[in-house]
Amino acid sequence: MDRPFIIINSAMSADGKLSTKERKQVRISGKLDFERMDELRARTDAIMVGIGTVLSDDPSLTVKSPERKAARRAAGKNENPARIIVDSSARTPINSDIFKKGEGTRIIAVSNSAPAGNVEKLEKQALVIKTGNDKVDLSELAGKLKEIGINTLMVEGGATLNWGMLSAGLVDEIYTFVGNLIIGGATAPTFTDGEGFSEAELLGLELISAEKIEEGVLLKWKVKGKRNKGL
Ligand code: NAP
Repeated sequence: MDRPFIIINSAMSADGKLSTKERKQVRISGKLDFERMDELRARTDAIMVGIGTVLSDDPSLTVKSPERKAARRAAGKNENPARIIVDSSARTPINSDIFKKGEGTRIIAVSNSAPAGNVEKLEKQALVIKTGNDKVDLSELAGKLKEIGINTLMVEGGATLNWGMLSAGLVDEIYTFVGNLIIGGATAPTFTDGEGFSEAELLGLELISAEKIEEGVLLKWKVKGKRNKGL
């Protein structure tokens, strides 16, 4: 494959929302799911989020468990996987937690029209990859990530980046933890926002597993590709 193996991992409410109508992060899963996610992070080569998530939540995207960090070091890797932000206009604040916390490579994917001044500032903190005219070209980005040795990539949202990745046919598996709460709100981010598919374009999935974890369910799906109309 000329791109990494790509998984989207997200937590959503029982009504499919990723966060509140104010786009503020809420606790959806519990300790066991947190550990599962930390383990996934520790096993992957890179973690990717959209700029919307950075501006809303300012996540550090680090591996939290000291044992998992030590195991990565023992295997000759950085403590954290490479952390990637998809950010067409190079808006990532230079004081973001992703820069402040943890060791490891930071990558900012920007478009070719990103303001040069912003790009220059980010280049002091991260590897900047340019692709796409006005928006980051996610397919080209995936190819470039593979070229620099990223074989497994975990996308951790948000709603718009999930759409970008899914609509470009770049996702192999989806892991969603469905938590025991309702968030509601027509404008609250859902698992996949963006433009949406029309009936002829719907994406088909195959269920890999459904597992009860604490008070929620972890669903693992394999992405099958475009579903035939009527099926
Ligand atoms: P997002 O998906 O994190 O970032 C979207 C942004 O990425 C776009 O607006 C766009 O901004 C950039 N982008 C660049 N190229 C793109 C492309 N080709 N396709 C798609 N996006 C591209 O932002 P969001 O939709 O606002 O989601 C953020 C929300 O999700 C927050 O409320 C956060 O709390 C929540 N969240 C929840 C979870 C969870 O697991 N529950 C995980 C993550 C986030 P530019 O045009 O500026 O590049």
